[in-house]
Amino acid sequence: MATQAPLVIVGASYAGTQLAASARELGFEAPIVMVGDERHAPYQRPPLSKGLLTGKTPVDRLELRGPDFFAQNDIDLRLGLRATALDTRERTVTFDDGTVQPYGWLALATGARCRPLSVPGTGLEGVFNLRTLDDALGVAGALARSKRACVIGGGFIGLEVASALSTRGADVTVIESQPRLLARVFPAPMSEYVAAAHRRRGVSLVTGRGVRQLHGKQGRIDAVELDDGTHIECDMAVLGTGVLPNTDLAEQAGIATGNGILVDASGRSSVPRVLAAGDVANMAMPAVPGGRAVHLRLESIQAANDGARAAAAVLVDREQPFTGVPWFWSDQFELKFQMAGLPASGDTTVLRGDTATDRFTLFYLRDGAVAAAHSVNRPAEHMQSRKLIASAARIAPQLLADESVDLKSLVAAA
Ligand code: FAD
Ligand code: NAP
Repeated sequence: MATQAPLVIVGASYAGTQLAASARELGFEAPIVMVGDERHAPYQRPPLSKGLLTGKTPVDRLELRGPDFFAQNDIDLRLGLRATALDTRERTVTFDDGTVQPYGWLALATGARCRPLSVPGTGLEGVFNLRTLDDALGVAGALARSKRACVIGGGFIGLEVASALSTRGADVTVIESQPRLLARVFPAPMSEYVAAAHRRRGVSLVTGRGVRQLHGKQGRIDAVELDDGTHIECDMAVLGTGVLPNTDLAEQAGIATGNGILVDASGRSSVPRVLAAGDVANMAMPAVPGGRAVHLRLESIQAANDGARAAAAVLVDREQPFTGVPWFWSDQFELKFQMAGLPASGDTTVLRGDTATDRFTLFYLRDGAVAAAHSVNRPAEHMQSRKLIASAARIAPQLLADESVDLKSLVAAA
């Protein structure tokens, strides 16, 4: 009997690994080949801007799966290998070692790369991007010698790195071009809370200012120049200015893209037998309470895993489109941020708890139903919020705000 053409997965990180794992769990029997262009076995990215920098997470604790996982599940993991071209008519993938691999199914899990900062000086020593384990090891090495650090970009990467560097004793300045921090993910009240929390812990913040140039002496960074001419002295800089989806392979192959590879809620692309999941996928999402179905490219572990599970179900003809509530988290200083759902302008906000104590949940109501919730140091409320959002039930704001009312009882009633 002829061997079945394999499922080829391009990208060996969260989406790729979950897709392979779910395919096997669902009984997919054809061979699986997974290629990744990094030299490391699939590893966890969140600690790269958190525990790896503070020293809490040792580098040998980063593996995404145990050492035997790939062999036990008959997954042919090929590292340090880059896919350079796709032929979706002949159903082949070409790798940078010249081999041409036929596929029965193809899954693109190529993730995202750092958006380059296009100003002079980014090539100076002491300037770091932060996406990969190798990037993080560079930051950790420089941190040991650094007294003054600039972090460019006030998104999650920037703020997590600022918190880690500051915890390790560096003097940190965050520079954000938007008028407020985390503008892409947080409404204004949460941005204000985050800014106050960082300032209270000694981080300097500059918002509404871009960067004109990075300056250096003898090839090493010594200052960041803002677009108003201000110089901020530093001995290292970390760039956290956002990411771009790795769509080049898909584009060259004529697969439909638009801020990522366009896929349905099951991860199917515009081309038969080509799936995509994770940071690279711009997925049709189900309607949120009071909202309408939209395409979203969510950059989070949960979205990568859920998108991969949905795509794996397609392989075994068991439709299981993604319908869950998006959620993600961030650790900054001793603050555990947990976010569920997606807030939108026009939502009514309800505060449960007190921002001054760094323990609260901010709910976002749309047409009377909880559409999103942002919790700080309230993990139990985050879990209940996810259930409330999924139920789409209308809840009186005074009940949400009243801390004597157990959220579990509201979930049960919903
Ligand atoms: P990626 O993890 O980007 O992996 C894609 C892989 O494919 C990469 O290894 C890439 O090199 C490889 N690749 C690309 N093109 C090719 C090719 N042509 N051939 C072969 N290989 C290729 N999310 C959270 O939810 N919570 C967090 O706390 C959190 N913290 C983060 C901290 C940091 C420092 C970073 C960088 C990200 C963090 N994220 C966090 C985001 C999260 O890591 C991403 O959403 C997730 O990694 C996406 O997984 P992915 O598999 O889609 O893509
Ligand atoms: P991000 O959330 O897009 O934030 C980047 C910020 O930097 C934006 O506010 C951006 O503003 C700003 N910026 C861009 N260019 C700038 C410049 N020249 N000077 C100053 N500010 C500038 O991305 P990120 O924080 O870099 O994170 C990268 C990826 O990792 C994202 O996918 C993120 O979700 C993920 N991540 C997630 C977590 C988490 O979930 N806990 C943690 C770390 C990383 P504009 O919007 O105007 O460009």
